[in-house]
Formats: sequence, C-alpha cells, structure tokens
Amino acid sequence: MELLYKSTRSDSAPVTASQAILKGLADDGGLFVPVQLPKLSVSMEELSKMNYQETAYEVMKLFFTDFTEEELKRCIARAYDEKFDTEEIAPIVKADGAYYLELFHGATIAFKDMALSILPHLMTVSAKKNQVKNDIVILTATSGDTGKAALAGFADVEGTKIIVFYPENGVSPIQEKQMVTQKGKNTYVVAIKGNFDDAQSGVKAIFNDKEFAKELEASHAQFSSANSINIGRLIPQVVYYVYAYAKLLAEGELAEGEKLNVVVPTGNFGNILAAFYAKNMGVPIAKLICASNDNKVLYDFFTTGTYDRNREFILTNSPSMDILISSNLERLIYRIAGEDSAANAELMNSLAANGSYKITDAMKEKLKDFYGNYAKEAETEQTIQALYDNTGYIIDTHTAVAATVYKKYKKDTADTTKTLIASTASPYKFTRSVMNAIDKEKYHAMGDFELVDELCRISNVPVPDAIEEIRSARVLHTRVCEKDKMKETVREILKTK
Ligand SMILES: *Cc1c(COP(=O)(O)O)cnc(C)c1O
Repeated sequence: MELLYKSTRSDSAPVTASQAILKGLADDGGLFVPVQLPKLSVSMEELSKMNYQETAYEVMKLFFTDFTEEELKRCIARAYDEKFDTEEIAPIVKADGAYYLELFHGATIAFKDMALSILPHLMTVSAKKNQVKNDIVILTATSGDTGKAALAGFADVEGTKIIVFYPENGVSPIQEKQMVTQKGKNTYVVAIKGNFDDAQSGVKAIFNDKEFAKELEASHAQFSSANSINIGRLIPQVVYYVYAYAKLLAEGELAEGEKLNVVVPTGNFGNILAAFYAKNMGVPIAKLICASNDNKVLYDFFTTGTYDRNREFILTNSPSMDILISSNLERLIYRIAGEDSAANAELMNSLAANGSYKITDAMKEKLKDFYGNYAKEAETEQTIQALYDNTGYIIDTHTAVAATVYKKYKKDTADTTKTLIASTASPYKFTRSVMNAIDKEKYHAMGDFELVDELCRISNVPVPDAIEEIRSARVLHTRVCEKDKMKETVREILKTK
C-alpha cells in the first residue's frame, strides 16, 4: 500500500515519499506528514534478532513506499557502514540506573549523523525517480551539528551542492572547526551575524521565494532542505527507537511488552517527534520526556499550552539546543488539532506574526504522553560531574540536559519505569564544556586539543577520528554575511545571475 504525505497547512494533493524528500517543505510553507502512521509489520521478538540495517529496512519500508526493496536496502547499506565506529551503530550503555542510547558513533560524532548519512542517498534516488535533471542545492541552517553532518553526507555527492549557514558566535570551537575545514568541491560554509533562529528564518524565506526559485530553475538547479523538517531526516530517526527497544528486549533488560520511558534533549523537536512516531507504530514507549536547556520555550509550552518565542535568546553550553522556534513541533500541533490543517495554519500564522500561539484545552489534553522540563547550565555541569564521579561514564552537555531533566522527572512523579536517554553527542564534541564541568580549576587554562587528550586519559575512550582529523586540518571556508544578506550570498555562491 502506497503511503502518501500531505502538508500540515492545507489539504492540497498529497505527494509520494520521494517527492516529499525532494521538496523538503510543502509549497504552502507547511511540513509534510504521512497521511497515516503505519504500524510495525514484524513483532518485537523478530526485531530483537535483527541488526541495525535490517531494523532500518523494516521501519523505512513502511514510510518510503515508492522506493523498491533494492533501492532502500542500497541506501541503508551505504549510510550505515564503516563511517560508524561500531557495528552496533547505536550502542546502549547502562549507567546510574538509566540506559544511554549513544547516537554519536557516526562521521561527525553527533546524532545528526543517524539521519544525514542516509538523506543524500534517499535524495539522489528520489531525484532519479522523479526525472529531476536539475542540480539539487541543499540549504541548511545549523546550530552546530546539522551543518557538519550534512556537509559530510553531501560532500562530493554527484548532482548536489550544499550551503550551510551557522551563527557566527553560536557554535562550539570544535563544531566551527569541523565545518570550516570541510572538504568537497560542492560544499560552502557561511557564518552569519545572527543567532540560529535568524539563520533558520533566512533559509525558510529563501525556500518560500518563488522568484528566486525561477532564477535557480533557469540555471538548472533547485533547492532542497537537509534540516530536520525533511521527512528524509525524520523517518531514519524512528529506526533507533525501535532498535533500542528490541535490543533491550534481546538482552533481557526489558520483559515482553514492558514499557520504557524516553528522554530526549530537544531543540528543533525532530528527535523526540521520531520517538513519538515510534510509540504510535507500536513500540511500548510510556512517557516522552522533553528536556530543554535555558531556552525553555518547550517546557513553558507543555506546562501552559502557550508557545511563546518572545524572549531573550540565551547562549548555553548545549548550543545545538539553543532554539526558540522548534520547527518540528508543528507536526505534533497538526496531530493534536485532529489533523485539521486550517486550525494548524492559523496557529502557525500567529507564531509568524506575533511570535506566539495558544492551543485549546482539548489539544492540551492530547499531550498527556509528554512531560517537559529544563536544566540550567549549572545543573547540567553538576550532572556531568556526578555521573563521572559515580560511574566513570562521561556524557556531553546536551545529554546532560536530558539526564538532569530525568532526575527532575523522577523526583516529580516517583515513576519507576525503565528509561532510555538519547545521548546525542560525543563528549569530544564539547570537550571544553565537559572538562570544565568535571574540574574547572584544573582544566580551564588548557588548550582545546590538550583537553581532548586529557578527556581520552580520564574516560578511557579513544579519540574519535572526527577529532583527530581537525587537529591539523586547513581552514577552507571563511565567508561571513549579515543576517539579512543570506539570499545575496546564495546567489553569489551559485552565480545564478
Ligand atoms: C540537534 C541536536 C539536538 C536537538 O535535536 P532536535 O531533533 O533538534 O530536537 C540535541 N543534541 C544534539 C547534540 C544535537 O546535535
């Protein structure tokens, strides 16, 4: 049965999965959602015997129904290969009474690799399927991790170009170094004088610019998105929740049908939405615990029913979560509005015009599966330090936001359900913040790479290749632009005029 995708903002004709992947965003500015969420077609028992690639196929075949078995299996094989430093792809570590699902074993050591290693392959197959002859130009706004993972995924992929915008002072030194040293003749990296929301709004405006699209078409190119609004990003993320549950079952950590809570350090709401999809597909997930940092828009939303981005943007030590507009939340809003695209569009228009919206009580009622809370920077640091002291296990700052919120959740609810924490980045990606949390006195004066070596020593975890590579890599990208000049910058890069 063919599964189609429709926009969250209108009832215009649904499109196929490959078309949705190519377009990224619907013409009306809405996000593509499957017309219906499929149920898993194999049992957990069967899944518990599968490896990551096999699990990926079982999940993705339900969503990408216009891909042949061979096409999909080839995309999966190319994505989840030796780029990952472990055959398990997403290993689980048990520490201090929780299961940490390590999603950072890919090429750029953050969880974005889980989806961005497959997206370029899904996209090139989609282009072929739809007789697209144009070059695909990927435009991406990043709060640090998406950019590098997208660059790594698309570098030198035939028929594509990729342009990444990041906030000039809003990413970690290692994240920045990773991006500006990116190789590949089709890669472009631009720092903007603004924050992540400026970058994301700028990219959205370019996507919605019909004139610019025509100009591009004339030079045989078209835009697409690698941001987490693309269903080609979202669906591959469902896989690891299915996989994690099945693995815990296989290892006897869970009994058949036993519920599992999931905690996700959240920014754009893509990762936790994937967990929500997994739950709706039949994975026995109980609570979806949404963890925010000081930019706690989502916590306020879950507690009050009002989403309000009118507030100060705070730079934290978990920069990939420094976001005030969580784009993927729209897919949840659409759903709790009873799949009423007009009602959703009205709320999104209010967000665009006033920076806020309020959901109805009936909608709020449907958010019972979710729990939101947030962690202050000092709490996050304490969590890293305490976990290290108690267990020797070292987590990054984003994962620490989740671990902190999990502690608060347990205190609030006394719930004893077993819990999976999405561990979204390697501590090596945020070495300075992590080491300062462990012992500021001792480490604050050390250089970035000295700290890397020290982290290796105290954690007994080898330095990932992604870090070794940038020790000596040359800076290849130095473009900077004003936040209102993004379109001109894209034009200059593509030389469409
Ligand atoms: C992107 C990112 C997040 C936030 O994920 P969303 O899907 O945007 O909610 C959390 N942690 C890290 C390390 C990330 O890179």
